[in-house]
Amino acid sequence: MSNEKEYLPKIAMSIQAHPDDQDFTVAGTLAKWARAGCKVISVLITSGDSGSNDVTKGAEYKPVLAKLREAEQLAANAVLGISETVFLHYPDGELVASLALRKDLTRLIRIHKPDIVVSGDPSGWFYGNGYINHPDHRAAAEAAVYAVFPSAGTRLIFTDLLEAGHEPHDVKRLYIHGSEKSDTWVDIKDTLDIKIEALKKHISQSDTHDVDKWIREWAMEEGKEKELEYAEAYRVMILKNEEEDK
Ligand SMILES: [Zn+2]
Repeated sequence: MSNEKEYLPKIAMSIQAHPDDQDFTVAGTLAKWARAGCKVISVLITSGDSGSNDVTKGAEYKPVLAKLREAEQLAANAVLGISETVFLHYPDGELVASLALRKDLTRLIRIHKPDIVVSGDPSGWFYGNGYINHPDHRAAAEAAVYAVFPSAGTRLIFTDLLEAGHEPHDVKRLYIHGSEKSDTWVDIKDTLDIKIEALKKHISQSDTHDVDKWIREWAMEEGKEKELEYAEAYRVMILKNEEEDK
């Protein structure tokens, strides 16, 4: 896979487990595509309602936190130029790659017909020596990948979707972030500042407060291989060639 010419989708869908996942990882790419006229749909499977260890808070705080974090994600998406956000309201911290979730994502793909779906890497268990990948991230990624293929494009999978009028749709490319086998680099020089600004909209999450330096360093690290100043790296599955469209 070369990187001479960056692929620009007309419609892209980002599928993530929690509010802020997108903004830590792929927001520079999404902002770049949005600026170029791409319609971006941001899908949040959970609303991050377990994202607090405040000792004064209990179960009654979860719906409050969910609302707060949805508002933060909408604010972040406004910064990125994303006009369409979908919350699926699955419980945070308890996500599994169920058929129900795969069907919900299949429905969204068939409705919005994205050229590209952006998700995490379902095979990513460990990152470095310090981070065990959150199980919700792996579950979200697995459900997203299998919604893209085979469910979205296969007519007789989830026939109730077909009966509801959701015809099959073939996604052209799957962009997987957090892969150890990256093969495509998106230059985010012009949108890195927007990415950082979006990330800071997640005010309830303390790890977003002081991100300027390390997000910048991370983007530099990702870009190194292709001599890009700042980049986001992906493994890209090309599922359908443009010619097949004609
Ligand atoms: Zn997360």
